[in-house]
Amino acid sequence: MQTQILGLVTPIMALFFAATFVVLWRVGRLKRHVLGFGLAYAFSAIGFLITHFFPADGFYLFHMTQLFYTMGSIALLASVCERAGQKLHLTSFAAVYVVSALVLALAVNLSNDVGPRLVIVNMGYGVMFIIGMTALLTARRRNVIDVAIIAVIAFQAADFLVRPSITLMFERSIPAEAYRESIYYSLIGLVLGVKGVVTAMVLIGASIAEWTTALRESSERDGLTGLYNRGSFEQSMRNLLPRAQTEGRALSLVVADIDHFKQVNDIWGHQAGDQALGNFGALISKMVRGCDKAGRIGGEEFCIAVWNCENDPAHRLAERIRQGFASLQHSDLGEDIRLTASFGLATAREGETYKQLFARADEALYRAKSRGRDRVENAEEQRLDDSFSEPQSKLVALNPSWPDPKRASVPRVSHRDNG
Ligand code: GH3
Ligand code: MG
Ligand code: MG
Repeated sequence: MQTQILGLVTPIMALFFAATFVVLWRVGRLKRHVLGFGLAYAFSAIGFLITHFFPADGFYLFHMTQLFYTMGSIALLASVCERAGQKLHLTSFAAVYVVSALVLALAVNLSNDVGPRLVIVNMGYGVMFIIGMTALLTARRRNVIDVAIIAVIAFQAADFLVRPSITLMFERSIPAEAYRESIYYSLIGLVLGVKGVVTAMVLIGASIAEWTTALRESSERDGLTGLYNRGSFEQSMRNLLPRAQTEGRALSLVVADIDHFKQVNDIWGHQAGDQALGNFGALISKMVRGCDKAGRIGGEEFCIAVWNCENDPAHRLAERIRQGFASLQHSDLGEDIRLTASFGLATAREGETYKQLFARADEALYRAKSRGRDRVENAEEQRLDDSFSEPQSKLVALNPSWPDPKRASVPRVSHRDNG
């Protein structure tokens, strides 16, 4: 009776961890690998229950436990691989399972000694954990949490490959009916419990860290475009500028403003305007590198800090974004309508503050507006004889190719259309 009750400790603990991961996934809106961790613990809990409560000499005991432990292991390994952005290796895991299940079936038929069976099934798990560990070791990103995950996977691989053989050196043969009285069985409860807790602690830590990062990211991001909001963009510029100077790297700043955007709202409605803003944000995110920072600093105004980039390549980047936006279709605006944006560019000078750099890029943007919009103007190319004219926003009341908002019969997109 006492052993039966003690035997419930490991499965109950596994179910508790399974529930913890499901709650973390739901409440924190985390990625699906966190749900995968929960699934891994749920499968393992079923495996633990079968190991403990199925008749020890029952023919299916080993096959059933192997099936559920394998599903648990695959859910765990595929989830850590997905988390690290690696291939899931599902085919390799399934192949290892099929081979070890077949060899196990042979061993069950050939002998009543459970020793060889234990070595075979554990060998299978060991190989799966080695595959998982190799996948994690070849992942690009590696911080302290990634290292901790690799360590627990390696620990599990070593345990599966070494422990059965060592235990069986002391206990030469275990008849199936005496399995639950064996040293191996007493040890397995302890080992699985310890491995389960250590692995769960690391994975819960990893999930909480992902949650915190997601929260911090969302407080730094603009909801409509997914780019940095003004505050966090300016903060990163204040960090990047001195860093560029101490490291001797170039830092260029592109400022962009959508042309005639007020008319977009007037003609097609605010929601269509929002869609266009989202599309511009997505285009910018796609075209900048991971080391650049892009932000929405005002209504339809955007900034890109182009890191380690001289003026010429930054100009070419702005030009590519300009062309990309000018050819972009916006479903709420109709097939033939295209929007444009104007761009100003400046490259940081020695000792320049963000305010000074921004002022020069903004002045170039102002020039782009005054020279007809849909163009890139470069603060570093400004000639002395440049004369400014009024921006056309004051001169041209309407983009001539668009319908007149006062007379337009263009279907406006309203928020109510969404139901
Ligand atoms: P210009 O070519 O000179 O830049 O003209 P413009 O009409 O784009 O310039 P203006 O600054 O006069 O208009 C900006 C408009 O952007 C006004 C405002 O209604 C709109 N706007 C600002 N924020 C949002 C937003 O979040 N969503 C939508 N749909 N419109 C916005
Ligand atoms: Mg504008
Ligand atoms: Mg504007």
